[in-house]
Amino acid sequence: MFVGHYGVAFAVKTERNKIPLWVLFIAVQFLDYIWATLILFGIEKLRVIKGFTAGSMLDSYYHPYSHSFIAALIWSALAALVYKANCSRHGCHYRNFAALIVGLAVFSHWILDFIAHPRDLPIYDNTWKVGLGLWNYRAPEFALEIALIAGGIILYLARNVMPLIRKIAVIVFGIALVVVQIGDTFVPRTPLTAKATATGVWIFYTLFVLVAFLVEKIRSPKQVNELCS
Ligand SMILES: [Zn+2]
Repeated sequence: MFVGHYGVAFAVKTERNKIPLWVLFIAVQFLDYIWATLILFGIEKLRVIKGFTAGSMLDSYYHPYSHSFIAALIWSALAALVYKANCSRHGCHYRNFAALIVGLAVFSHWILDFIAHPRDLPIYDNTWKVGLGLWNYRAPEFALEIALIAGGIILYLARNVMPLIRKIAVIVFGIALVVVQIGDTFVPRTPLTAKATATGVWIFYTLFVLVAFLVEKIRSPKQVNELCS
């Protein structure tokens, strides 16, 4: 699973919970940030093999600290606690509720990976590996990614008040994510090394976080006046 994770980020943002979209963009890929970091340090292991599955070249054969079920629960709880603590400092409303959503957003990553990955997700440590393996079926996996991102953006646009220019920016961003997914799924390429792949994850994911941040900076003149008064 790749851009489909961002569908969850778009879907759970509301006027009520006021969680910044960029925070949710980190949350839904938090496990992969940890994974890429641990790959770079040589602690978790990855092989990049052409044709490993129909939709992905990643043979992530050892990732107990980032992608086991138990680790995912722990990282999700930790993310919720950090968000709550940070929110308390800044006096946000709805902090318990919002912190829970951040935690669930982190955990959604494991659920979606469980659908896409071949049997490489351990329940704990490096044992009892599970995965429904949708990546073995290129078109259905791609369709799920696109359905998630489209559904998430539709909910985001419906549940958040914003000027037209931001709506357009969100849709353009969504289209860009779909293009990235088309490239990832369908364009043949030479496999990178594990470390180059992990570096790419850090660069691309952070670029998406930056765009999510900038998109939410677009406010209507009325909203800007309200902020200033
Ligand atoms: Zn993952």
